Amino acid sequence: MVNQIACEDPEQWDRCFLADLHSNKILIQAPDGPQLVVALRFSKRAKRMSLQIETAGNNAVLVVPDEVPVGEAERFACHHAGWLARNLACRPGPVAFEPGAETPILGVPHRIQHCPEGRGGVWVDSKNNSDVISVSGAPNHLARRVTDWLRRRARDEITPRARTHAHRLNRAAARISIRDTTSRWGSCSSRGILSFSWRLVLAPERVLNYVCAHEAAHLVEMNHSPVFWRLVEELVGDWQEPRTWLRLNGAKLHRYG
Ligand SMILES: [Zn+2]
Repeated sequence: MVNQIACEDPEQWDRCFLADLHSNKILIQAPDGPQLVVALRFSKRAKRMSLQIETAGNNAVLVVPDEVPVGEAERFACHHAGWLARNLACRPGPVAFEPGAETPILGVPHRIQHCPEGRGGVWVDSKNNSDVISVSGAPNHLARRVTDWLRRRARDEITPRARTHAHRLNRAAARISIRDTTSRWGSCSSRGILSFSWRLVLAPERVLNYVCAHEAAHLVEMNHSPVFWRLVEELVGDWQEPRTWLRLNGAKLHRYG
C-alpha cells in the first residue's frame, strides 16, 4: 500500500541534480540543508507522473511513465520537493519495542515494561488504570519477544473470527496464515488459503474483524462486486467505516516494532 500524494506544489527548490542514474535515484538538495532521496520507478501502465510515500519505510517514490525522459522526472521531483519535505517531516517516526514505548493492542494503548526477574515471557496486565505489556528475560531479547507475542496474539484473534465468518457462509478456509506483509492486510488464494498481516492485532477490534470477514467472503466471491460487499455486510454490518479507518490509519500500524 502506498500513500498517493496530490502534486500541486508551486514551490521550486533552488538546486537539484540527478545523483545516481544507475540506481534510478534523484537526490534533491535544498538551499537550507535538507536532502531528499526520491527513487524513480518506471512504469508501462502509468499515464502520468505521481509522487508517493511508501507506507513502510518513509521512502519517496516517483512513478514515471516509461516514455517520460529522466530529465523531466527530475524537474517534476524538484518542483514538488517542498511539499515532499514537509510531508516526510510530519510523518511519525518508527516506534521500537523497548521499555517505556507504547503500542496498541486491538486499538488500546499498552506500555511496554521490562521485568528481568519475571517469569512467563510476556504477559499483559493493568496497573494504575493503564495497560502494560510486561516482558521478562534479557533486555536484548525484549523487542523480539514482544513481536513474537503480538504475532501469536494476532493468530489467536484472527483465526477464530475468520473461521466463524467462513462457517456462516458455508465455507471453510483451507489454511489461515499470519504474516508480516507490507502491501496487504489480508488475501485469499484460489485454493482457499487466507493470509493476514499480524499488524491487524494493533488495529481496533472492529477493523481486524472486518478484514477477517472480507477475506472469508472471498471464499465465495473472488472479486469486489456488489454481491461480495453484500456478503461482507451480512457478516459485519457497516464495513465502510472500518475500511476507511484502515485507509486513513493503516500506515501508522507499520511504525511499530
Ligand atoms: Zn478483497
